[in-house]
Amino acid sequence: MTTFQNNTINDFREKFRGTLLLPDNHGYDSARKVWNGMFDRKPAIIARCIGSSDVINAVQFARENNLLIAVKGGGHNSAGKAVCDDGMMIDLSLMRRVLVDKKSETALVDGGCLLGDVDYETQLHGLAVSAGIVSHTGVGGLTLGGGFGWISRKYGFTIDNLISAEVVTADGELLTASNEENPDLFWGIRGGGGNFGIVTSFTVKCAPIGNEVFSGMIIKKFEDAGEYIRFHRDYVRKLPDEMTVWLVMRHAPPLPFLPTDVHGKMVVAVPFVWLGDRDEGEELIKPLREITVSHGEEIGMNLWVNWQAGFDGLCEHGARNYWKSHHLKELSNDCIDTVVAFAAKMPTDECEVFIPHMEGAPSRVPELDTAFAHRNTPFVLNIHTRWQNMADDDRSLSWAREFHAETEKFAQGVYVNFLSDEGETRVRDAYTKEVWQRLEQVKNKYDPDNIFQMNQNIKPSL
Ligand SMILES: Cc1cc2nc3c(=O)[nH]c(=O)nc-3n(C[C@H](O)[C@H](O)[C@H](O)COP(=O)(O)OP(=O)(O)OC[C@H]3O[C@@H](n4cnc5c(N)ncnc54)[C@H](O)[C@@H]3O)c2cc1C
Repeated sequence: MTTFQNNTINDFREKFRGTLLLPDNHGYDSARKVWNGMFDRKPAIIARCIGSSDVINAVQFARENNLLIAVKGGGHNSAGKAVCDDGMMIDLSLMRRVLVDKKSETALVDGGCLLGDVDYETQLHGLAVSAGIVSHTGVGGLTLGGGFGWISRKYGFTIDNLISAEVVTADGELLTASNEENPDLFWGIRGGGGNFGIVTSFTVKCAPIGNEVFSGMIIKKFEDAGEYIRFHRDYVRKLPDEMTVWLVMRHAPPLPFLPTDVHGKMVVAVPFVWLGDRDEGEELIKPLREITVSHGEEIGMNLWVNWQAGFDGLCEHGARNYWKSHHLKELSNDCIDTVVAFAAKMPTDECEVFIPHMEGAPSRVPELDTAFAHRNTPFVLNIHTRWQNMADDDRSLSWAREFHAETEKFAQGVYVNFLSDEGETRVRDAYTKEVWQRLEQVKNKYDPDNIFQMNQNIKPSL
């Protein structure tokens, strides 16, 4: 482990307003934790920044001392990229301002915010930012990879609503990235992850969704999964963008609206969100209720902040996690049968097979407008493998890997934010050839020494 001379650290402390943590300092162990309990890495130093100047000083210190840099936004990345062994963790989690401009319906969001911070402030004005579905996910990593959730079919991915970002680059400069300023950098950070710099704030367009949405969850019998999914795949693709219906296969949590004998049983959960008049929404979900038998349902007007936090408890910090994912070309009968057969064998009660429907506003954005590729994908297949004990590592990892390999033939690419540590070829699968070449050019220009490499890495090609 790298150690530092006292005067080196003292000099650094003098120009750093946040907190610097060395391994024997109080708070070091909690600061280095990330969401995925598989990663127990120990940085030589943690720089807990409170502003862009701190981030610049941290980058400069890391460069001067030859330290590997890991950047922590929300720490949610399932591949554990927010923390490194040895090296420096640049921790943005103290930078959580959200400033909403009601008139322009925009928000300035600090690089260390969690999604819940954004909902909390924007909802004061009946606004929301199109982003993810778990309130403790970080805005930083989610946005830089793309960002989708309940309202993205209507309002686009998070990157489609990004107006500008403040970025600390590899040489310690603070640049604005927007369509007007440094447009190549702006293009790259919309899908290319944290490869080009550290974003200290994002300015995003908000969506006027109000405070309540018609939403809920229908729980179907797993025994009918094949029949239900065959219906679902065609039905959801005909729905207006205001309606988002997803699909999750898992063991039922002890939800109060389910009979107790269903708790712990394999089920197909069908959550939905409708952005519009309730009666119209009721009509649209009727067929979902009628096809195959339901164990139960909970449907109604929900406060957006509550709905957004409704799934938090199923994915709390600290468990062991291994994610595998594909974009699916279609949900063919063959694909459905394979998916259901693997779901039936999930190794632990906490695993999930999650199939969001993606089409809508994001698919109408021209493919090369941002670095997010494969925008026309109808469905994503996410294999969320989750368990508590190291003793279950082998069987959990094998299930996920085998499931993933067997569904490869139905796939077209992957979402970069759902990748585990799978090597460079797999990172390329998140992009088309043309997008990858452009990403390399942006990397060559803004980070030719690849100092930002703790990510789904795009190496400089020079
Ligand atoms: C439970 C759960 C639910 C999820 N739900 C969704 C969802 O609904 N929609 C969706 O699109 N994705 C979702 N994701 C995936 C999510 O987008 C990624 O895990 C993302 O990396 C999380 O960002 P973070 O800032 O929390 O992660 P971190 O682990 O902190 O960072 C991830 C990567 O981004 C970099 N990074 C983070 N912040 C910055 C920054 N400000 N500047 C530069 N680089 C930065 C890090 O260095 C790292 O390489 C979910 C993940 C989990 C675990």
